[in-house]
Amino acid sequence: MSAIDPTTGPCPCGRTDRRDKPIGYALCCGRYLDDFENTPAPDAESLMRSRYSAFVLERGEYLLASWHASRRPASIEFEPGVKWLGLDIRSRSVLDADHAEVEFVARQRSSTGTATRLHERSRFVREGERWYYLEGDLQQPAG
Ligand SMILES: [Zn+2]
Repeated sequence: MSAIDPTTGPCPCGRTDRRDKPIGYALCCGRYLDDFENTPAPDAESLMRSRYSAFVLERGEYLLASWHASRRPASIEFEPGVKWLGLDIRSRSVLDADHAEVEFVARQRSSTGTATRLHERSRFVREGERWYYLEGDLQQPAG
């Protein structure tokens, strides 16, 4: 259990403003996580970041709701004791008005201390005003 409350501190996704200052959770992913119905993430990167924050905060309902219905799993299990260490957005590609890809690296440490680097290229699709996570391809570790 972390003593840090991410809901009052910097956003878990690590987004910074134009002066490189961390943006607070409430002004970043919190807007989408805490008001899914009325505040859709405006673009694929924002949705990707909010899903990372949802993993950090173990918000399974948000992860399921933001997953496209065609690929959505029945439930989400969080591995106990995992500590998320950070998110690094590598690239964003807008394919057309309703399709986008985001490549990212997320780092985590398991309860036994094993560090894992998750490198994925994720696909997103927009329906109406809302972006959804479709699926992702894991990238092979470089080197
Ligand atoms: Zn955020």
